[in-house]
Amino acid sequence: MASLRSSIRSGVCRGLLAAVALLAFAGSASAAKFSRVVIDPGHGGHDLGGKFGYLYEKHLALDVSLRLQRYLQAKGITTTLTRQRDVFIPLEDRPAVSNAIAKSIFVSIHFNYVSYAGPAGTETWYYSAAGQQLAALIQNRVAAGLGTPNRGVKFARFKVLRSCSMPAALVEGGFISTNNDRARVLDPRYRQRLAELVGEGILGYRRQ
Ligand SMILES: [Zn+2]
Repeated sequence: MASLRSSIRSGVCRGLLAAVALLAFAGSASAAKFSRVVIDPGHGGHDLGGKFGYLYEKHLALDVSLRLQRYLQAKGITTTLTRQRDVFIPLEDRPAVSNAIAKSIFVSIHFNYVSYAGPAGTETWYYSAAGQQLAALIQNRVAAGLGTPNRGVKFARFKVLRSCSMPAALVEGGFISTNNDRARVLDPRYRQRLAELVGEGILGYRRQ
């Protein structure tokens, strides 16, 4: 972009033409940024994830993932789910789905659980630089749209992210262990909104 800005600053017609050509190229490049979103509902089967009584993270993650899939498909975006029902998928098999698809991005859906009282809100994790950009766009939309505490965009060496050769992000959509957040995640309207906001973040990434 530095060369584009200097082209525009020069005010020379040839420079402007070059800038227009560059913009056109950038536009087509971003349109082809990814061709498929691999949605990864965390946990499944005997791996319940976080739990509070009979409320299991694995069910919430699948519910939001299916909502996200519907949202993206309605926007004309092709998706693949690493699981479509309550089955156990080994951690290493999840990024493998995405690694096998050219120009995919990987978005994993989770909910938080901690053994102490208090924390609330959402956070999004990344490992690679490309993942950081994706994670930031998702987290900004989610935090602004839900209005719950924004715990930010964070680096992690999670295996599920580390093994991805494409941009990858892991969304934590609220704390099952915290009363206020748990009440929210139990509400289907919250889960629908969360899914749409994650989807908006993904669309924002595609536009960049
Ligand atoms: Zn989880």
